[in-house]
Amino acid sequence: MTYKSIVIGTGPSGLTAAIYLARANLSPLVIEGPEPGGQLSTTTEVENFPGFPDGILGPELVDNMRKQAERFGAEFRNGWVNELDLSLRPFKLKVEGIGELIAETLVISTGASAKLLGIPGEKESIGRGVSTCATCDGFFYRGKKIIVVGGGDSAMEEANFLTRFAEEVRVVHRRSELRASKIMQDRARNNGKITWSLDKTPLEVITDNDKVIGLKVKDNANGAEEVIATDGIFVAIGHNPNTGFLDGQLETDELGYLIVKSGSSETNVPGVFACGDVQDNKYRQAITAAGSGCMAAIDSEKFIEHHAVLE
Ligand code: NAP
Repeated sequence: MTYKSIVIGTGPSGLTAAIYLARANLSPLVIEGPEPGGQLSTTTEVENFPGFPDGILGPELVDNMRKQAERFGAEFRNGWVNELDLSLRPFKLKVEGIGELIAETLVISTGASAKLLGIPGEKESIGRGVSTCATCDGFFYRGKKIIVVGGGDSAMEEANFLTRFAEEVRVVHRRSELRASKIMQDRARNNGKITWSLDKTPLEVITDNDKVIGLKVKDNANGAEEVIATDGIFVAIGHNPNTGFLDGQLETDELGYLIVKSGSSETNVPGVFACGDVQDNKYRQAITAAGSGCMAAIDSEKFIEHHAVLE
């Protein structure tokens, strides 16, 4: 099967790209991976996406975007890209669940996955007391007690941000030294609302009636275990951009994020465009992802106009 454009990934960036490509009459194929909707699909209320004054549920927002893309002719199929050859255009893909595909342009919108601790109680509490995004969920913890897990810049940034809402923010980190840059550490240390539990390894998220009530930790110095009472846990131990399937064929930065030409969605391979969190380690918001998806679609459209090799 041959397509003018194939979009890989269905978070807000891929879905926005699909809407724009479909409205440009390019009938894109959109490949949905194992987590349709991306990180938004695991969020509850989204209150900062413009246009929804009363907020909207994350899954509903992505569902609406998908319907909007389908309305203009985007085709959605479930699959997993096993093989991809970017050395020759048109591009050839082998997709588990779909088969062999040929595409004039590709939009890579596979997102990034927040790293999790992998401890009991964590996964089942995501969206219900465990969060990986302070900007998204901090507001729900007004006047509450929060734990932020991690010792890097993200953890410091999230801890500082969360003090706007929470009564107390406790940073739990597995070592006694923080990995964060000095300036970020100083900012957090000078914040009177932040308290510290260092050299403690998280063991289990404790819940009561599906509500998070504590984090069980082990003191690494003496092995003693304790439960730190909390209303919510923000896991801030980093993200992994989802680029494994590309097999190193696109340029990435030192953290593995795809590099796009400044002010565009162009990767180092002509005809391959990237948008959303897979190329954004800084903003990581649904709205910035959607905006970059629009850029990728417009860049694809222009590319097809000038460089098409398919009839
Ligand atoms: P990071 O620097 O990799 O830090 C991750 C932290 O999580 C580390 O302290 C690590 O502990 C801890 N951690 C990792 N896996 C863990 C596990 N399984 N259990 C418990 N703790 C675990 O990630 P990041 O903070 O997201 O930052 C990523 C990059 O973005 C960095 O280059 C950072 O400078 C940059 N960034 C910059 C800013 C800013 O300047 N405003 C803000 C955010 C991020 P260890 O220290 O023991 O390894």
